Amino acid sequence: MLEPALKCLWTCATAVGTRKLGWLVSRISTYSDTAFYFEGVEGVVALTIDDGLARGGVETSLVSEVLSLLERHDARCTFFVCSKYLASLGADRVVAAGHEFGNHMEEDKFGYSKLMPDEFERALKESNDVIEAESGATVRWFRAPQGVLTSSMRRAIVRLKLRHAIGDAYCDDWAVSDADWVARTLLRQAKAGSIVILHMPERGHREHTLEALTMVLQGLSDRGLKCVTLTEIDRGESKRGAGDPGGGAVDVLQASHYHVNIMAKR
Ligand SMILES: [Zn+2]
Repeated sequence: MLEPALKCLWTCATAVGTRKLGWLVSRISTYSDTAFYFEGVEGVVALTIDDGLARGGVETSLVSEVLSLLERHDARCTFFVCSKYLASLGADRVVAAGHEFGNHMEEDKFGYSKLMPDEFERALKESNDVIEAESGATVRWFRAPQGVLTSSMRRAIVRLKLRHAIGDAYCDDWAVSDADWVARTLLRQAKAGSIVILHMPERGHREHTLEALTMVLQGLSDRGLKCVTLTEIDRGESKRGAGDPGGGAVDVLQASHYHVNIMAKR
């Protein structure tokens, strides 16, 4: 019952325009400095993968498969990882391949917004410390579990020098097992500057998202869209490949800034 309902919901949202919906949510003050997409960007999207690396540990891990798939497409990704699903899965290897980690708390569940501000901040910091220790890299991005962000959560994020990112290409891929539909929907939503959200596949759990990711990467490549990390797209460090059909010279993209209403923030 859930899958047809979600398909219906996201088909409607896609028709309305998920970027437009993100813009509307960014009018809510708590989300005014959340990145939903990046403006002034050409030729790239930010690819983000949530929850993994693997809740079942090495037994169920598909980290190697995902890394080789990304490498085949010269794609880089921000993994919004739950610190609980990270141990001994080669987080340093992920960073060495050019990807980055974002903080998605210890696990993706409801309830963080109900914590006292100091409790949330402690949990956020603990999760950050685990991710940084495992990966050996600085965490710069945060994605609130279930997308629920309160103003006190937001203050804690700012104090830890993190930025909140959601996205404008999303369709509950974790719950809809039809990989073909997931890929088609995400490709319909994604355009230059988009933040694409998928969930980490693992053996026996959301395994279909590997197939969806395969099709999404192919579809984006076919349209000349390259996947980069949030940090890269935000800094405008991404360059068009020399083989880009759009032109010969390698031009540095001027990513103006992630979608943020600076005025509303004050
Ligand atoms: Zn999640």
